[in-house]
Amino acid sequence: MSVPRDHVAVLGAGVCGLAAAWELLRSGAAQRVTVLEAEDRPGGMARSVHDPSGLQADLGPHRIHTEIEEIDALLGELCDREMHWVERRSAMWVEGQWVNYPFRLGGVLRLFGPIEFCRMGFSALWAKTSGLWRPRPANFEEHMRRAFGARVWNRVLRPYSTKVWKTDPSGLSVKAAEVRVSAGSMVKMAKRLLMGGRERRGQETALKRFRYLTGGVESLVKRLGERVRGAGGVIECGARVEEMICEGEGRWRVRHSRGETEANAVLSTIPVTQMTPMLRGIVGESAPEENLAALEYLAIHLVFLVINRPQATPNHWLYFPGEDICFNRGYEAKHFWEAEAAPADQTLLCLEITARPHTPLHTAGERELIERTQGDLSRIGLVTAGEIEKSFVVTLPFGYPLYDRLSDENLRRVLEHLAGWPGLIVTGRQGLFSHNNMDHSMHMGLEAARALAAGPEGVAGFYARADRLRHHRIVD
Ligand SMILES: Cc1cc2nc3c(=O)[nH]c(=O)nc-3n(C[C@H](O)[C@H](O)[C@H](O)COP(=O)(O)OP(=O)(O)OC[C@H]3O[C@@H](n4cnc5c(N)ncnc54)[C@H](O)[C@@H]3O)c2cc1C
Repeated sequence: MSVPRDHVAVLGAGVCGLAAAWELLRSGAAQRVTVLEAEDRPGGMARSVHDPSGLQADLGPHRIHTEIEEIDALLGELCDREMHWVERRSAMWVEGQWVNYPFRLGGVLRLFGPIEFCRMGFSALWAKTSGLWRPRPANFEEHMRRAFGARVWNRVLRPYSTKVWKTDPSGLSVKAAEVRVSAGSMVKMAKRLLMGGRERRGQETALKRFRYLTGGVESLVKRLGERVRGAGGVIECGARVEEMICEGEGRWRVRHSRGETEANAVLSTIPVTQMTPMLRGIVGESAPEENLAALEYLAIHLVFLVINRPQATPNHWLYFPGEDICFNRGYEAKHFWEAEAAPADQTLLCLEITARPHTPLHTAGERELIERTQGDLSRIGLVTAGEIEKSFVVTLPFGYPLYDRLSDENLRRVLEHLAGWPGLIVTGRQGLFSHNNMDHSMHMGLEAARALAAGPEGVAGFYARADRLRHHRIVD
C-alpha cells in the first residue's frame, strides 16, 4: 500500500540523497521534501575542488559506468550533453618500473621475465586445483590465494591490499575480494591477456574506455539538484544534522545547525555510525553499541599538487602497489575533460592515501602528508619538488567502509534496530556501509524512496534486500 507523506526530510545531498528526493517528489510519494546537507554545497563525495588559478579536479576521478539499466537511462536523461567517451590510459609502478595497466602479455613478460611468469602460472593452477577439495575460503587472503596463486598474491596483490586497507588481509571478508577485485581470478586474467584485452560486454574485468562528464562529476550533481528544485524540493546546505527526535508515527523533528525541520518521515544517507546515536524518542530499545562501534570507515587523504608542466604523465590513473610508496593511486585531472580542467602550462595531480582511524596516519597534518607524497614522487622520478607550485589536502573521513569478517553481521544487527523506528529509512554508501559507486548509490536512493512510500512493509523489504543492494561488482 502506498502511503503519501506530507513532508520528508532527506539527510545528505550526495547523489543518493538527491536521487531519493527527486523520486519522492516525481512519484507523488511526498508533497514536500527538504534535503539537509552539512556542507556548503551538495555533492558529497561527488564533488570537485576548484583552485583560484582555474584548475579543477574531482575528489577522485568519477567515471560513469553502470550495469543497472534504470540508472543508465537516468544518467542519459540527465547528462546526455556533458557525457563523453574517454580511451583509458593507466599504468602501474611495480618493483621500480612502469607497466601498462590493464596488463598486456608483453608487459607482464617484460616485468617478471618468462621463468617467473611460468612459475606464477603454475602456482595459480595449483591453487585452483588444490582448492577443489578444500572448504570455501573464509577470508580475503584465502580467496585471493586461491584465485591467483601464492606467487602473484605474495609479490603484487598482498602488498597492495595491505596498503589500501591498512589491515592484514586475513582479517578482511571474502566479499571485499568479490566486489572490489574485478580482475576476478588468474584464469580470467589469463584469458584477457591471451585475447589481447578483449572482453565480453557486461563481463569486463577492467574498462578500456569509459564515460566522463565535461565539467567534472559536479555536472551530475547540478542536474540532479535542478530536478529536485524543479519538482518543488528544497536543498538546505550548511545544515549539519545533530539530533533526530521521533514523537510518534509520522512525527519527526530533525535538529540541525540551521534550526529544526519537522517531517513525517526521514530518509537518511549520512554515515550510519553517526546517525544512529542521534536518534531520540519513542523507541525504548537501545542501539547495539558494540556492533555500531565495530563498523569502521577508512579515511582517504587526497593530496593535490599543482605542477608547473603541461602534463605530469600521459596516463589517467597511476597505481602504486609497493608498500615503500605512501600513496595507493594517482590521477591527473586534465586528461579526463581536457580543455576546462587546467591552463595549458599547468596540471593538477592527485594522490590517494588511505588511513585507519586511531592511527598516526589518520590524524597526520597537511604538511606531513604533502612532504611524504612529494618525497615519494621525486624518488620515483615522476615530479621534482621544484616543479610543484602549491599543494593542498582534502580528507574524506568516511572514505571506504572496511569490510572485515564481521561487518555484514554488525550492520545486520544495526539495521534490525533501525527498522524499529517508524518512518525512518537509511540508504546510500554511508547509510548502508557500502563500498559502491555513484550508480549504485543513485539506485539505492530510488529504491529507498519507493520503500518509504510503500510503508512499514516496504521498509522491512528494503532492509531484507540490503545485502544485495550493498554489494555490486565494481569494474576497475
Ligand atoms: C576516491 C574515490 C573515487 C571514486 N570513483 C568513482 C568512480 O569513478 N565512479 C563512480 O561511479 N563512483 C566513484 N566513487 C564512489 C562515489 O563517489 C560514491 O559511491 C557516491 O558519491 C556516494 O554517494 P552517496 O550519496 O551515497 O554518499 P555521499 O556522497 O557520502 O553523501 C552523503 C552526504 O551526507 C552528508 N552528511 C554527512 N553527515 C551529515 C550530517 N550530520 N548532516 C547533514 N549531512 C551530512 C555529506 O556531507 C554528504 O554530502 C568514488 C569514490 C571515491 C572516494
